[in-house]
Amino acid sequence: MKGKKMSMTTKILVGLILGVIVGFFFMGSPDIAETYIKPFGTLFLNLIKMIIVPLVLSSLVVGTASVGDVTKLGRIGIKTIVYFLVTTAIAVAIGLILGNVIQPGVGLTLALPEGAEVKAGEIPSIADTLLNIIPTNPIEAMVNANMLQVIAFALFLGIGITMIGEKGKPLYSFFDSLAEVMYSITSIIMQYAPIGVFALMVPVVAENGPKVLLPLLKVVIAVYLGCIIHSIAVYSLSVKIFAGMSPKHFFKGIFEAAMVAFTTSSSSGTLPVTMRNAQENLGVPQSIAAFVLPLGATINMDGTALYQGVCALFIAQIYGVNLTIGQQLTVILSATLASIGTAGVPGAGFIMLTMVLQSVGLPIEASALIAGIDRILDMIRTSINIVGDASCSVVVAATEGELRETEKKPAS
Ligand code: ASP
Repeated sequence: MKGKKMSMTTKILVGLILGVIVGFFFMGSPDIAETYIKPFGTLFLNLIKMIIVPLVLSSLVVGTASVGDVTKLGRIGIKTIVYFLVTTAIAVAIGLILGNVIQPGVGLTLALPEGAEVKAGEIPSIADTLLNIIPTNPIEAMVNANMLQVIAFALFLGIGITMIGEKGKPLYSFFDSLAEVMYSITSIIMQYAPIGVFALMVPVVAENGPKVLLPLLKVVIAVYLGCIIHSIAVYSLSVKIFAGMSPKHFFKGIFEAAMVAFTTSSSSGTLPVTMRNAQENLGVPQSIAAFVLPLGATINMDGTALYQGVCALFIAQIYGVNLTIGQQLTVILSATLASIGTAGVPGAGFIMLTMVLQSVGLPIEASALIAGIDRILDMIRTSINIVGDASCSVVVAATEGELRETEKKPAS
């Protein structure tokens, strides 16, 4: 570090590392960490949750309306969705390859944790899933923080504002101002991030010491390794090829958000920071960041899909089932779809895992084994989820010819 003042990224990193160290000390008495330290982390979580609904609504309305014409909006929309789907499918494939190579389940016989019972997540029909995207009462959608519905309403508002031209201006200005205010609140909240990150980390480490981790270490290694490979292979290449951006610049620029995602395990919760990093450090214009990132935080989950691929193989191996190539392709398809339906909140990917298992007829009980280590896996997969969103915003901005040069060194 050259400057005299520590950058915010460094401060958050220090908070994270200190959190791990202090967490080790509390391993014998996780209750103390839970009672006295966790509330400071919960405060951070609550602060960011506070602004999610108004932020997503206002930024997506502005993002949609500021594109200016509906044809361009369609083009950006299609690019975004295609990027999301392709990268997610690659992520599951990487998960499956690692599951085949590392074989995390071989040698482990099924021993469910005491009292563990896992119920299958209900699989809603495709018609229900699609119909549920449209809120019959948008206010209720906001009250319940149903993000997919809030997104749908915001898209309609944005398109409506675009279509009526002059008359839509006051509403546009209103949402524009609301979005700006939300960004400035984000800056205030981020001042507290190092403490929040520290306080979230301590209880996680205290509760998930080596005792829980070791038996399933291979699963943890496969998921972490997979996430690293996916970032290097997919994100580095796509920002380099489509945007001519050096991967180092990209990862440095999004590092702060990745750390917040790591500790909060929530893509939605990290959204304000992702948006800030993408605009300030990566040069993504507001209109594209405001369109791609809220959408991505809700439907694009590469890390989650990769984790589901690894876990499906792990569970098959525990039961001595050999998944055929056809079944593995089914896993790719169902994990891609499941990750779209996964909410950007902690633990959501685990619930959807049961759906993936069912798609190839694997018993879901074994996912109880995963439950013990899920938080550790959630941290890395959430980081990858939001880094994936950011890479999409860079690629879309670049292919639209709108990526700004960011001369300022990110995060300093
Ligand atoms: N926690 C993840 C996220 O917010 C979702 C998951 O559980 O996989 O992106």
